[in-house]
Amino acid sequence: MSQIKLGILGGGQLGSMLSVAAKKLNIETIIYCNDPEAPAQNFCNEFICAEYNDKNKIYDFAHKVDVITYEFENIPYETLNELNKLKTVSPKPSVNRLIQHRIAEKDFINKLNIRTTRYVLIQSKDDLLPLDDFLPGILKTTTLGYDGKGQYPINNIKEIESLKIDYNKEYILEKLVKLKKEISVIITRFSNNKYEIYEPIENTHENQILRNSKIPAEISDKLFNQSKEWAISIAEELKYIGTLCVEFFIDRNDNLYVNEIAPRVHNSGHLTINAYNISQFENHVRAVCSLNQISLKKKSNAEMVNLIGNQIVPYRNNHKLDDNQFFFDYLKKEIKEKRKMGHITTLK
Ligand code: ADP
Ligand code: MG
Repeated sequence: MSQIKLGILGGGQLGSMLSVAAKKLNIETIIYCNDPEAPAQNFCNEFICAEYNDKNKIYDFAHKVDVITYEFENIPYETLNELNKLKTVSPKPSVNRLIQHRIAEKDFINKLNIRTTRYVLIQSKDDLLPLDDFLPGILKTTTLGYDGKGQYPINNIKEIESLKIDYNKEYILEKLVKLKKEISVIITRFSNNKYEIYEPIENTHENQILRNSKIPAEISDKLFNQSKEWAISIAEELKYIGTLCVEFFIDRNDNLYVNEIAPRVHNSGHLTINAYNISQFENHVRAVCSLNQISLKKKSNAEMVNLIGNQIVPYRNNHKLDDNQFFFDYLKKEIKEKRKMGHITTLK
């Protein structure tokens, strides 16, 4: 069989790690991204730098590849839909459109009888004022948010004046959950009732950015099983192809809530590269390229720590690592505060 060419929209670290996984499977990757500095250009076979709405470039890209996926959920739906007319896009564009919008996403989850935080759509300042019982809460833009961007924690109505909220945008107001823990479940679905699922991962965030992830998560068997069951229901209902991550909250009474769904490989799953026989990235490539499914085997417990901003510097300067530690540098040129620059995984 001739070599498969996989097209990937988005050129961040997730695109890099997908390219590395593809190479191992003898699959070529062509990355399409609007950022000329995109780090994934260091890892893929070919890099196309153009805007996501550049019809000619998108058309050329489609003709170069056999299948298409994405590593970043904020790709315009129109682009994914146009591409899907030329080559198969997995996960399918309608999944991305649903999940891109925080209200549509939560409506979908609740229809499956799966708990989310309480939420309400906010289109103007007047919508916010009578919502005392949703406070303390977090106001989030309905679309285009990531790593806590576009989020405003609100403790009481009086704070709203000082927040400089841009009401030209649409928001969701979510009641704050009194968090005991956050976990995520990563699942790769191949077709009807065929999937590989990783055990729940325990995540710690600082300032709404993921700081570290570890397995095993310190949770009850009930939550272990319930989170996996919910992730399976979501993946089946979406008829999802590829790797998906479900982020969960656990409150102080051990109630489980779905926070959000990421229709892609996920930062909390970086530890799967070292802790499992098949990583979330390889499984994603296998599923979207219709390769065979291999049973998952966990090799080790693990902890992953994100290196944010300047934290990368000592590791770039040959900081000593133990034999059970693995350092990943995303090769981003500019170090910025709050920017994920790399990570360290330690097997335990
Ligand atoms: P992003 O798309 O930026 O990942 P999330 O909705 O996942 O946005 O929020 C980022 C983090 O902020 C969460 O992982 C959690 O730590 C905190 N957070 C967000 N919403 C809530 C909430 N309703 N209650 C408690 N914590 C929250
Ligand atoms: Mg999140």
